[in-house]
Amino acid sequence: CGIVAYVGHREACPLVLKGLKRLEYRGYDSAGVALLNGEGLKVYKKKGKVVDLEKELNGKELTATIGMGHTRWATHGEPNDVNAHPHYAFNRKLAIIHNGIIENYATLKENLIRKGHEFRSQTDSEVLIQFIEEIQKHTCCSLEEAVRQALQEVVGAYAIVIMSEDDPTQLIAARKGSPLVIGIGEGEFFMASDATPIIEYTKDVVYLNDYEVAVIKNGELKVTTLDNTQTTPYIQKVELELEA
Ligand code: GLU
Repeated sequence: CGIVAYVGHREACPLVLKGLKRLEYRGYDSAGVALLNGEGLKVYKKKGKVVDLEKELNGKELTATIGMGHTRWATHGEPNDVNAHPHYAFNRKLAIIHNGIIENYATLKENLIRKGHEFRSQTDSEVLIQFIEEIQKHTCCSLEEAVRQALQEVVGAYAIVIMSEDDPTQLIAARKGSPLVIGIGEGEFFMASDATPIIEYTKDVVYLNDYEVAVIKNGELKVTTLDNTQTTPYIQKVELELEA
């Protein structure tokens, strides 16, 4: 139900957790974060509130300047630790956070199982990340191209953010039906379901349109449509004021 992601020069974990708290008003049943550093992709998730996740994180080595977090409002699979987001792909190199519903997940899942994929959760979201992984493996295309191809097959609504162990400068996001805002700072980028987690850092935001894919890579933002036509992101000043 809530998405926050960050890449830049700050500590990602506290920033993401604070952002998730700003989105708590949307309602949720579990929370999780994915962080990427020299030791690879780490995923922590927990049923309950963001404070329960924070307890879980206590004492862990969480240094990372790229990360993402999610608060889940379960639609497919009961609220528990395993069904909480982020979900990761078969090889554990890709992670996804997802808001919304993949309506044709059952068909996609059957095909993936036939190709040898195993699933840990009951969610529609895990199906999407394994589907993306399968496309990338099969066509040897870039991750962003695999995301575009996968989303062309998806029926439903989504706001997603994806991280890959292969590129610690990269965040890939896309939306259809569910909101996603990108904040542009000095050498840093933010993503969130609404602007409230972003505005204390920057007022420059881009509201992603339906069927657009945003790729942040090496400090640059590129937006394309699902058929890989590049679009010019419209940067606007957000007016919103933060309540104390
Ligand atoms: N459909 C996904 C799930 O049940 C995402 C729910 C959400 O928007 O939080 O895990």
